[in-house]
Amino acid sequence: MAPEAKLFDKEVAAIASCSKPLNELFSSLPTTIFEVMSKLAMEHSSVNLGQGFPDAEGPEAMKQIASKAMYDFHNQYPSLLGVPELRQAVARHSEANQGIPVDWVTETLVTVGATEGLAACFLGLLNPGDEVIMFDPMYDSYVSMARRSGAAIVPVRLRLPDFSVPLEELAAAVGPQTKMIMLNSPHNPSGKVFTRTELEAIAELCIRHDVIALCDEVYEHLVFGGAKHISLRSLPGMAERCVRLGSAGKTFSFTAWKVGWMTGPSRLMNPIIKAHQFLVFTVPSSLQRAVAHGLDQESDFYL
Ligand code: PMP
Repeated sequence: MAPEAKLFDKEVAAIASCSKPLNELFSSLPTTIFEVMSKLAMEHSSVNLGQGFPDAEGPEAMKQIASKAMYDFHNQYPSLLGVPELRQAVARHSEANQGIPVDWVTETLVTVGATEGLAACFLGLLNPGDEVIMFDPMYDSYVSMARRSGAAIVPVRLRLPDFSVPLEELAAAVGPQTKMIMLNSPHNPSGKVFTRTELEAIAELCIRHDVIALCDEVYEHLVFGGAKHISLRSLPGMAERCVRLGSAGKTFSFTAWKVGWMTGPSRLMNPIIKAHQFLVFTVPSSLQRAVAHGLDQESDFYL
């Protein structure tokens, strides 16, 4: 390339770039550790223990349905709420597995994985000045997206060796600004399944202090030994103040599909849906149809 051309490119780049500060939060963030570890594992052909890839793929029938659906149905924007088949299956799944009745029309939403669902919840539910209690350690997307909504994080460290909830510390962390408690059970990264006693204490605090609970239950079916997953939303008085998230990536070992779902009372769902409509608007419909089949017909795989 001629030297003049190089100079010209630089000048164009200088004019085209913007010297004003970019978004403070995101420009200061490192790349998520999951991407870093998987890239290193690829480069060095090493075993990758850094990111949760399942060893085996999910049900064959779901792949068949996803590919067939691409030919059997048109490939245009589905409803921003999700396809009715999947929203109905999500409602049935909630009732069958946790005994929580859900109106599929007003209380379900399909998301681009649980990650987008979480972002929509933080953006849709929180205001600057709100406080969100989060159990530490936690999945890495929570803090950034909650902070982006203007809220402050109040961490409560789970107690070793069994990652139990320090109930007195939790009670002390709740104040007049507390808007939300973030609960991830079964828990990433520890695998801990919150006990009924802990859930009852959290529910009691939510009700007493008029606080919302955001329940990341993507690992609801990944429990081992005698452990039993109980949704906080199934406790008395909690259906009206909990939003619950699930993920086909986790339930069916299809992490690439990025199909998630959410259930919650319509008063909370309404602003979340508004955030979702401008984050992604909708989710690939052929994958949604396959997940609908999975929730209804492939319980042998996940139970
Ligand atoms: N929540 C937790 C606790 C997770 O571990 C993950 C994925 N690692 C997610 C949410 C995101 O799930 P999805 O792939 O459906 O976005």
